[in-house]
Amino acid sequence: MTGKRLIVVEDEAPLRDLYARALEQAGYQVRTAGGALACRRLLREAPADCLLLDIGLPDLDGLSLAREFSDTPGLGLIIVSRRDAAEDRIAALELGCDDYITKPVHLGELCARVMAVLRRRSPRRRLALGPFRVDLEAHTVTADGVEAPLTRGEFAILALLIAAGGKVVAREALFERISRKPDEGDLRTVDILISRIRRKLAGAPGGDRLIVTAPGFGYRTGLEAVAC
Ligand code: CA
Repeated sequence: MTGKRLIVVEDEAPLRDLYARALEQAGYQVRTAGGALACRRLLREAPADCLLLDIGLPDLDGLSLAREFSDTPGLGLIIVSRRDAAEDRIAALELGCDDYITKPVHLGELCARVMAVLRRRSPRRRLALGPFRVDLEAHTVTADGVEAPLTRGEFAILALLIAAGGKVVAREALFERISRKPDEGDLRTVDILISRIRRKLAGAPGGDRLIVTAPGFGYRTGLEAVAC
């Protein structure tokens, strides 16, 4: 989750700095804006993963700004406001905001809520391929609810094949992923790992289609991955 880009929009400089410092310490890249115009400018310069919006801003209120950006793909919206009336919360949710935090803000809670919003919005974190569920963060594969004991290398290969979205991945590329020293070793290591993955997942229906061999070239997934 680290490295995600946030913009804190808050006209009170001490609060702005306080939030920014806490979020930076939590591993986020944080830019700050004192108002709506500055926020728009920052978004034109570079995209963000989540906006933290105060409602009471000097130039345009935070809810209007949220409305403006509610259709932006991949952009999380969190209102951080002193207002705690139900109407404001409802308005924010109806606009498509992901969360509403009331001031005074507990910094630990702020970071946790940001993380939760980003996690919910994070695309393709959990995938379904036929009977398999693949969690790309937890590095687990389950077949019909039973976790397959894949090693780190086996999972890395499977994740690379899934990321290729059904396109063939060359054995060399797979080997590079698992070997710290790509010059050393043997491409057959890849074939061995693939056969181990297949063996571990063979019991599930459709297991034989999870990894398809492209003879003389590499491998691909034969099952479509959908977010779940
Ligand atoms: Ca304010």
